[in-house]
Amino acid sequence: MLRISTPDGSNKVVLHACCAPCSSAIIEAMLANNITPIIYFYNPNIYPEEEYLKRKTEIENYVTRLGLEIVDADYDYEVWKSGTCGMEDLPERGSRCLYCFNMRLLQTARYAAEQGIKYFTTTLASSRWKDFNQIIDAGRRAASQIEGVEFWEQNWRKGGLYERRNELLKIENFYNQQYCGCEFSKR
Ligand code: SF4
Repeated sequence: MLRISTPDGSNKVVLHACCAPCSSAIIEAMLANNITPIIYFYNPNIYPEEEYLKRKTEIENYVTRLGLEIVDADYDYEVWKSGTCGMEDLPERGSRCLYCFNMRLLQTARYAAEQGIKYFTTTLASSRWKDFNQIIDAGRRAASQIEGVEFWEQNWRKGGLYERRNELLKIENFYNQQYCGCEFSKR
């Protein structure tokens, strides 16, 4: 079993979750180490709304079966999109993605602070398609803006979690999206 712990050993965290496939192995590892995550679904980047609802429903069903709490945060694609002006044609891993991570993790940090939970982390860090350093930067930046919280910088790609993610994808027969999320990644 992969041994993990938060930096101060606290056993409750806020886990920003992008989708069921990317969340499953991380949640499994947390639970195996007596860490209880509150799942925070805040992904206003996903387009169109049907796709957003599909991803949200998939993770809601999964974590509800596990008996975990999931928070359904707002979906406002127009607010997200307004911040991408001028960055529409940038490739993935560029500045638009950093903006996207900043927005989602700042909101997650706010929620953690409201709940009095010190650590937050994100399933975004599990994807090999994303720039790990951008995600770490976004997490640190969010933590620096909100008092009382810290970003848990666990590398969720290591320790066999990426392989376990792919196993769980098949076992759970998750809906597996074919693009990152926004309309620019779709095309
Ligand atoms: S490609 Fe993915 S990470 Fe980048 S802006 Fe679009 S949804 Fe966000």
